[in-house]
Amino acid sequence: MSLKLNDHYKNVKESYLFSDIAKRVAAYTEKHPEAKIIRLGIGDVTLPLTPTVISAMEKAVAEMGKKETFRGYAPEYGYDFIRQAVADYYKKFGVTLSLNEVFVSDGAKSDVGNIVDIFGDNTVLIPDPVYPVYLDSNLMSGRRVSFLKASSEDGFLPMPSGLKEDSYLIYLCSPNNPTGAVYNREQLTAWVNFALKTGSVIIFDSAYEAYIKGDYPHSVYEIPGAEKCAVEICSLSKTAGFTGTRCAWTIMPDTLTVDGVVLNKRWARRQATKFNGVPYVIQRAAEAALSPEGQKESEASVAYYMGNAALLADLFTRKGIWFTGGICSPYIWLKCPNGMNSWEFFDSLLENVQVVGTPGSGFGECGEGYFRLTSFGSREATEEAVGRLEKFL
Ligand code: PLP
Repeated sequence: MSLKLNDHYKNVKESYLFSDIAKRVAAYTEKHPEAKIIRLGIGDVTLPLTPTVISAMEKAVAEMGKKETFRGYAPEYGYDFIRQAVADYYKKFGVTLSLNEVFVSDGAKSDVGNIVDIFGDNTVLIPDPVYPVYLDSNLMSGRRVSFLKASSEDGFLPMPSGLKEDSYLIYLCSPNNPTGAVYNREQLTAWVNFALKTGSVIIFDSAYEAYIKGDYPHSVYEIPGAEKCAVEICSLSKTAGFTGTRCAWTIMPDTLTVDGVVLNKRWARRQATKFNGVPYVIQRAAEAALSPEGQKESEASVAYYMGNAALLADLFTRKGIWFTGGICSPYIWLKCPNGMNSWEFFDSLLENVQVVGTPGSGFGECGEGYFRLTSFGSREATEEAVGRLEKFL
């Protein structure tokens, strides 16, 4: 006699990426305790929350300490004030949302992982390389996954041409983690048209939209018709430094239906059953981050990171090393020089210049031979890394 487990978990590969990196760095440090290692592998922000956010949090904390202003369970979908703040934020992109289309959550990771719940047994299209949560959450639920293989030829922006016309669940991430590549209007229009034509649904992850410069869509809803075929997931993690504070949202348009079912209602049902809402204090912090003052402050943090990205991008341009990202994204995705594979290049950088990045092969098979550097470090560390790489590469 034995209980049955969800054996789909057996199909999920153990992720050794970050533990392998940590082990190799630890082994190097043991041999070379004097080495000054520069970590450009981190995908986490390093600048603190901004003053507007902190003062909103302090005020909300004080409210929680008074009987008259204390709050208990928060509404599962978010207080109206934050749903309104998100809707107002989207006006910047020319996108009109009603409050019930905005579902506030504790993270884009949670929403990306949980959304599988409301879909059945479809073929799921996932870019390769990409943020690994899309793949793992679908494998855990036993879904059939097919990869949208990307390469330097398509600028790591896979397109629908060549796909069999069928109804798919399609994950798109723009700007992409890890490649930093960003879809332009024409490319995103092709995806939206494909989804409309085939009855597919796009799950659009815009976690890095705040890093976009120039005329690229920040939201999939800037593309006509997307309100009938796309869900959008975004987060304040990278926009406003909320990785440790936790606030994100999912947009489920009223007009998005599958087989006559309004997905908004399905998601509402799912969230009401399995999610307890984001803490009041955090929602007030998020509201402040989305206020004009909060946005101005976050933009300064983003500009700081993008200053780092520009230093790295300039270096690889000077060296003639192929890369994407670094312009609309905090990530630089470069082709490992001299035909090295991702881990060989990792070891080479660690040994020779003590710079740590992330092997591209950790983000999917198509990431082999590529390498991710991030701009979330300090300016001093990035400058030092650029100096060392300049001499070495
Ligand atoms: N989506 C992408 C593409 C990411 O890179 C990340 C975090 O690295 C997330 C979502 C997760 O965001 P959150 O911190 O809101 O869970």
